[in-house]
Amino acid sequence: MPTTTSALSVPSAGAPFEVVQLERRDLRDDDVRIDVAFAGICHSDIHTVRDEWGAAHYPIVTGHEIAGTVAAVGDAVTRYKVGDRVGVGCLVDSCTECEACKNGQEQFCTKPSVGTYNSKGYDGQWTDGGYSQQIVVTERMVLRIPDGIGLDEAAPLLCAGITTYSPLKRWGAGPGKKVAVVGVGGLGHMGVKIAAAMDADVTTLSRSMDKADDAVALGASRHIATSDAEAMKAARGSFDIIVNTVSADLDTEAYLRLLKPFGALVNVGLPTNPYSVRPFNLIGGNKVLTGSQIGGIAETQEMLDFCAEHGIAATVETLDASDPATIDAAYDKVVAGGVRYRYVIDTSTITPSA
Ligand code: NAP
Ligand code: ZN
Repeated sequence: MPTTTSALSVPSAGAPFEVVQLERRDLRDDDVRIDVAFAGICHSDIHTVRDEWGAAHYPIVTGHEIAGTVAAVGDAVTRYKVGDRVGVGCLVDSCTECEACKNGQEQFCTKPSVGTYNSKGYDGQWTDGGYSQQIVVTERMVLRIPDGIGLDEAAPLLCAGITTYSPLKRWGAGPGKKVAVVGVGGLGHMGVKIAAAMDADVTTLSRSMDKADDAVALGASRHIATSDAEAMKAARGSFDIIVNTVSADLDTEAYLRLLKPFGALVNVGLPTNPYSVRPFNLIGGNKVLTGSQIGGIAETQEMLDFCAEHGIAATVETLDASDPATIDAAYDKVVAGGVRYRYVIDTSTITPSA
């Protein structure tokens, strides 16, 4: 029998959240049913709910930073048992057969992969995400949350954590490397913690000095306000790797200028306008302008284990969702740059309307 679960849903673009009853599929042999404890609010949820990317399917239940415990397992499940602490990120299925899947890069599955929400599953059903009390996911896409990381502070690792860990690793963050993180938000604050744990020297670039003390506490050695033209000039040519996590358009050339020769500007923020770069500003210094999309399942587990080993996790503010308007207000606050540094919804507070 399918199970019914309470969830926070948006009926149309920009409409307020409301509580709905969602049907989760009956367990297939390889499925895990998870009691969701916490779901992080990623800016991608906001872009989607507000239809800023233009491909949202309503009604929609967002949330792809999911942490909870296993409630039930299908007959063929071998990796998880009832009570295990688990997480789910941005992916809930992939074909397993294409080159990307075989390389552990399920996010690039050519079938393509199935997203946790706003995505059509291989069974033809639209997926609904983690702002809900239960979710059913094939065990291949379920992650183990290491002991020592609380479920609330673990949830954001499933997107913000892997989205910053993967490019930092790929571009060689480590001892002797100077890393800049642009935007100290959900992704950005994890980028700082992870790059510092990799023993890189980290600088944060933010619109103002408001987050300067926090940035140092997160692991940065210095903080630059991007509004300070002199400080930006002084930082030219100084970074090996820049991870841009900003959710809005930025002047790409201003950040390319901050790279050393052969340095890489990795964009993970997802506004919709094109980048504008004159060839001379990329070619001078053999600079790399690139992007990075989440990470595969094995790398996500590696990131979780890395965080546990280094004693890091997300810095969270927990939201009580008994009034769904709290989530609407939280979205506004994220957009205004007011969250320190990731909201997580306590899904046990989602209350069915009378
Ligand atoms: P977030 O918590 O809102 O953080 C974004 C940060 O960008 C803010 O804290 C702010 O930092 C800065 N910012 C916001 N508006 C700005 C503006 N108008 N001008 C300059 N800076 C601005 O968002 P998030 O959850 O970290 O997500 C960031 C972006 O990454 C989103 O676009 C999201 O969709 C995308 N994303 C991509 C992937 C991927 O796979 N590539 C995965 C997840 C999310 P300061 O206050 O420090 O300036
Ligand atoms: Zn996300």
